[in-house]
Amino acid sequence: MKTGIFEVKTINAGFLAMDCGGIFGVVPRAIWQKKVNPDEHNRLKMATHCLLLISENRKILVDTGVGNGVGEKLRIIFNIEDDTSLERALAEAMISPEDITDVIVTHLHFDHAGGLINHRSQLPFFPNAQYYTSEEQFQWANNPTLIDRASFTKRNFLPLYEKGKLQLLKAGEQPLDGIRFYYSRGHTPGLLTLEIEDQQQPLFYCADLFPTAFHIPLHYISAYDLYPVDLLREKAFFLKKIWEKGGLLIFPHDTNIVAASVEKINNDYQINKTFNRI
Ligand SMILES: [Zn+2]
Repeated sequence: MKTGIFEVKTINAGFLAMDCGGIFGVVPRAIWQKKVNPDEHNRLKMATHCLLLISENRKILVDTGVGNGVGEKLRIIFNIEDDTSLERALAEAMISPEDITDVIVTHLHFDHAGGLINHRSQLPFFPNAQYYTSEEQFQWANNPTLIDRASFTKRNFLPLYEKGKLQLLKAGEQPLDGIRFYYSRGHTPGLLTLEIEDQQQPLFYCADLFPTAFHIPLHYISAYDLYPVDLLREKAFFLKKIWEKGGLLIFPHDTNIVAASVEKINNDYQINKTFNRI
C-alpha cells in the first residue's frame, strides 16, 4: 500500500497470549465473551504487527515484537513459543536486518521492544539503524512502578542507549519526513503514536492505544493502561482525527483485523472498512 512518500507493509513479529481480564479491563466478561474465545487460562492469542515504511532512501521499522530474549517466566505466562518470528517476518517481506535505516519503538514494553537487540549475539538487531523512542518513555522504563515493572526488560533497550544508538525524542520533536509523531501518556508516559502522512488516506499507528479492533469504543480501556482518563481523551482525539481525515488505524495485536477505517456513531466510534493485511 502506498501512503504518502512510503510503500507501507505490516509484518507480524510473532504471537503471544494475554489475559482477557488485562486486555478488557473494566469491561465485564459477560460482554466480551460474546466476541472472543479465550484459551483454558483465559488468554487471548495476539499478534505483534509492526510497520515497515519504505521510501526512496529509507527503510523504517516501527516496533519489533517480543524478539528472541524473552525469559522463561514471561514465555510461560504469555505462551510465547517462537523466538525466530521477527527474522522470518522480515525475510518474508524480503528485508534483511542490515537494510533497516531507522527503528522507531513506540514504547518500551517487552512486546514492542523485544527485537531491538538480538539477544543471541547481544548486538543491535538492526546494525545500521538509528533507533528512536521518547525521552519520557525511556526515563519511565528505567524507573517503572510496581504495577508496570513486569512490562519492561531493560536489556532490550539499555545496551542501545549505552552504544549511543537510541535517540531520545522530546515532546513535539519531528525527526523523520513524512511521519508525524504524537506524544501520549494514557497507556504509558511518552508513548509515541505515528501518522503516516497522506492527502487521501493517512495511516495511524497508535500502538497500544488501540491494541485490537475490539478497543475502538472509547471506554474499552485495558487494565495495562496506567492513566485511563488520559487514555480516554487520547482515544477520542485520534478517533476524531482518523474519522475526519478518512484515515486508517492499525491494530498491533489483533490476529484478524490488521487495519480499519472508523466512523462516528452517536458519541462514540466503530470500525467501518476492515483489512486483514496491508
Ligand atoms: Zn504496551
